[in-house]
Amino acid sequence: MVRKVLVLGDIRDGVVRNVSFEAVAAAKLIADGGEVTAVLFGESIGDEALSPIHYGADRVVKVEHQDLKGYTTDSYQQALLQVLDAEKPDALIMGHTAQGKDFSPRIATKLKAGLVSDVVNIEIDGGEPVFTTPIYSGKAFEKTRIKDGMIIATIRPNNITPFEKDESRTGEVGQVNVEIKDLRTTIKDIVKKATGGIDLSEAKIIVSGGRGMKDGENFQLLEDLANTLGAAVGASRGACDAGYCDYSLQIGQTGKVVTPDLYIAVGISGAIQHLAGMSNSKVIVAINKDPEAPIFDVADYGIVGDLFEVVPMLTEEFKKVLV
Ligand code: FAD
Repeated sequence: MVRKVLVLGDIRDGVVRNVSFEAVAAAKLIADGGEVTAVLFGESIGDEALSPIHYGADRVVKVEHQDLKGYTTDSYQQALLQVLDAEKPDALIMGHTAQGKDFSPRIATKLKAGLVSDVVNIEIDGGEPVFTTPIYSGKAFEKTRIKDGMIIATIRPNNITPFEKDESRTGEVGQVNVEIKDLRTTIKDIVKKATGGIDLSEAKIIVSGGRGMKDGENFQLLEDLANTLGAAVGASRGACDAGYCDYSLQIGQTGKVVTPDLYIAVGISGAIQHLAGMSNSKVIVAINKDPEAPIFDVADYGIVGDLFEVVPMLTEEFKKVLV
């Protein structure tokens, strides 16, 4: 069934995030030959408007307004409801990011639409999309169809492969004007934590440290390995609780859920709450001196050894081939 599908782009620091291009690929599948339109919110969007088209979108709708400079639930909700009213799509897809998680249930409630959150795969069965989502902290998967009405889905970063970027693709870039009023929240200032350049939730490679690191200063070993591999640094709650690193690095049930291509767990025992955040990574490497550590049950490759010997050795070897 041919559908009209809207993708709400996730923009950070004026740049469309990769998860939005993954959402475009998901939208193309659901559209089944129908039109895919990316909606971009911001104060001023500029040439970035073309990026969803380079990744497969047919059209882009820019919504520029001073109250859309940064994300607030209020302003985005008001703006998106007006865009949806103008566009009348059959489906709306967005990233399962902090923004998407906050925002999608509100839109679904307002429109009485069906919402599937945290989608890791989409298949088409009899013309209908079937969404796969992890349940029980990733230990099982559930398949969901939305039978009637508009479909809303948020997709987990790093699970749906985006199309190759093609800068020769062209498409219409239009503009919708919206009215935003009676805001209950406004952003005065954004103060960022200095946690390095690569966003954990979108990182292709993550090097993660646990209580086995013994000290915050030893995280430098992980930084060195991560810099060599172009990876982001993460952590277990054990490491965060011990004060070795900031809680923004925490991966797990009460931290970030990640699905990189490669997850290197260093000095992490593999508690169930940690596995909940990383066990769906494509390849898992564990470095632990205890051969009985539960992390080895989910690891594709295990190195039993002292991390203080193994990690510098790995960094040196990777440097020989990568740098
Ligand atoms: P430990 O369990 O202490 O493991 C340290 C590991 O390092 C050991 O396996 C040890 O063999 C190894 N090691 C030590 N020295 C070396 C060395 N020199 N070389 C190699 N290996 C070495 N945890 C999370 O991670 N994320 C969450 O989101 C999370 N949410 C939670 C929510 C709740 C409600 C609760 C109750 C707990 C939660 N936890 C979470 C905590 C979780 O239960 C574990 O306590 C935590 O994951 C343990 O962290 P760790 O593996 O770093 O530490």
